Amino acid sequence: MHFGQMISTMRPVSLLLSIGFALAATTLARAQCGPDALGTSRVMRVGAAGGGGVGLKSYPRTLALADKEIVLTFDDGPLPGPTTKVLDALKKECVRATFFLIGRNADANPALVRREAAEGHTVAHHTYSHPAVTLRGLSDEAARADIDKGIAADERAAGAGARAPFFRFPGFADTKPLVDWLARRDILVFGTDVWASDWTPMSPTQQLALVMGRIEKVRRGIVLFHDTREQTAQMMPAFLRELKARGYRIVHIEPGAGRPATVEAGPGWRSETDRLISGLMAARRAAAPKATQ
Ligand SMILES: [Zn+2]
Repeated sequence: MHFGQMISTMRPVSLLLSIGFALAATTLARAQCGPDALGTSRVMRVGAAGGGGVGLKSYPRTLALADKEIVLTFDDGPLPGPTTKVLDALKKECVRATFFLIGRNADANPALVRREAAEGHTVAHHTYSHPAVTLRGLSDEAARADIDKGIAADERAAGAGARAPFFRFPGFADTKPLVDWLARRDILVFGTDVWASDWTPMSPTQQLALVMGRIEKVRRGIVLFHDTREQTAQMMPAFLRELKARGYRIVHIEPGAGRPATVEAGPGWRSETDRLISGLMAARRAAAPKATQ
């Protein structure tokens, strides 16, 4: 047998070996989680070329997910305590998620950001300071600086290779100039399809019932939580068990090439967040003169 023959006979063997290793790795992951774990059913590569926005609460399109496919996202972390509990719950079920970090929190808790990246989660961005007035309350220049400072802090904490051009506006309060600026830099803006309203204090049991009811109504989409909220962290193990019991599957998003695969909203779509933000801004303006009296 000369060298060429040896290679040609070895190819199928090495292919089988590769498949064997892949199966072994999958089996190992399942074994670590237990056979009943929720798991991550697939990875969706999400291109950000040309930017734009996804998530039906704010934009007339969202990620192209099948029935009963859910993308889990968490905002405002990392925060020692609740973020650790959320990460533990996800790890136990072999579920991967996307964290939209506040840069200031990433600076303060780099070990948690490193853990997120090391456990296969996507590290995305949510400004540096999460200004109370939202980015609509800042000048364009100040808003852009806060966004950039946040991305730099998140990437510094996550380490090399953890770059995701995904951004979510605090309070969903986007502006056209900022969305256009992000688009020119190939950064995709995330709204959401479902939110947990976990900014409102409630018990973990109430939180679970609320978010499951909302998920069952739309049956697919991007779901928003806050990993800084204790009520969310406490209900996360039960929430993941409930998704499994009701036949939902987790899709993990990672940066990809080109444009994202999206579906358009149906006729009559309206931005829910714009109505909410306009209401909040009007209330703030109405309250402002009274404060000076
Ligand atoms: Zn936020």
